[in-house]
Amino acid sequence: MTSLFENYKRAPVAFVRGEGARLFDRDGKDYIDLLAGIATSSLGHGHGGLVEALSAQAAKVLHVSNLFEIPEQEAAALSLVAAATRADSPWAEGEANAPRVFFCNSGAEANEAAIKLARKWGADSGRFEVVSNQNGFHGRTMGALAATGTAAYHQGFQPLPGGFRSVPFNDLDALDAAVGDHTCGVLIEPIQGEAGVILSDDDYLKGAAELCRKRGALLILDEVQTGIGRTGSMFAFQHYGVSPDIVNLAKGLGGGVPVGAVLARKEVALHFQPGSHGTTFGGNPLAMVAVAAVQKALVDEGVLNNAVSAGKKLRAALEDLGRRTSKLRSVRGVGLMLAVELASGDSAADLAARCLEHGVVVHAVRPETIRLLPPLVISESEIDEGVRRLEAAVLAG
Ligand SMILES: *Cc1c(COP(=O)(O)O)cnc(C)c1O
Repeated sequence: MTSLFENYKRAPVAFVRGEGARLFDRDGKDYIDLLAGIATSSLGHGHGGLVEALSAQAAKVLHVSNLFEIPEQEAAALSLVAAATRADSPWAEGEANAPRVFFCNSGAEANEAAIKLARKWGADSGRFEVVSNQNGFHGRTMGALAATGTAAYHQGFQPLPGGFRSVPFNDLDALDAAVGDHTCGVLIEPIQGEAGVILSDDDYLKGAAELCRKRGALLILDEVQTGIGRTGSMFAFQHYGVSPDIVNLAKGLGGGVPVGAVLARKEVALHFQPGSHGTTFGGNPLAMVAVAAVQKALVDEGVLNNAVSAGKKLRAALEDLGRRTSKLRSVRGVGLMLAVELASGDSAADLAARCLEHGVVVHAVRPETIRLLPPLVISESEIDEGVRRLEAAVLAG
């Protein structure tokens, strides 16, 4: 019996508590969490600083609306801008030109806001079209869905809003042919997450940035999954050394608290004026202290550095497992955004189910691909234990 919609296929387990990169189900059984709620609980579970910030804010005030000043929103924005513009970032700008931040509540909403911003920016020059990539994923709202160039997600929901076009990923010629006088923005995931952790070629993002500059379109990076330390850099654009006009964030941004954000170059951001766009919940004090707590942990507590070393360790362990079992074809990814290709014909869904039995959480992102997105705080011993359990699940197949 359920009172819920049936739009999710749920595994038969309920996690009721967590500690670091460990989750516990109703019976007290423990699991190593190699998924972090799909790249979201980046500080793991029960992180002291995050819990304290949320509890303290909950006791003060939860919500006031954007009709009023929200100091916590200013503080969260400042921490994101500082991270985006630090000296070694491709976005390093003087303070006067620093990017601006808009807060919303999810990844789809961040993309939606970015699409609207690009439209508004291009309105006076007849630019309206958004070019994105096939097999990308930008969310389930109508605009984000239209930008999601994957037919399966569109099925049954047509007609979708117009002004969208998608081209094959990592194909600069196709992008070159698609971007023209009507293009307001090129929307790209630096690493396609839902497609199964498909990396941009270095030349692709750089070429896209160059093309946008030449043709006068905005480069919009959907970093909803790659952002906030997932790849070992605060933003994937810093990893790839490209300078975008707009960056969209959500998943890891609040460490599990629902929040999204758009960062935009100042001159672009200022195309939104009072009345252009808004949200009731977006940027509320509770979500904002989560954003600030996550930033503080990533930078001051060395969590970003841990993402780099843990990523290397997990990847090496997976490659080793592949060599020893011949059950894994390949491992790919950056930082703690990893995918494992299974031996031909093996089912990722079956493996993910066996993993739960063996006490480790992974995601079957494609029929023969599992995706690993552990909390960025995962320790060496949690990785060792997680890989031991994964090995047991692999061998049980
Ligand atoms: C998850 C995801 C989204 C959608 O985010 P929601 O919060 O589910 O709306 C958009 N883009 C990318 C790249 C994502 O991974």
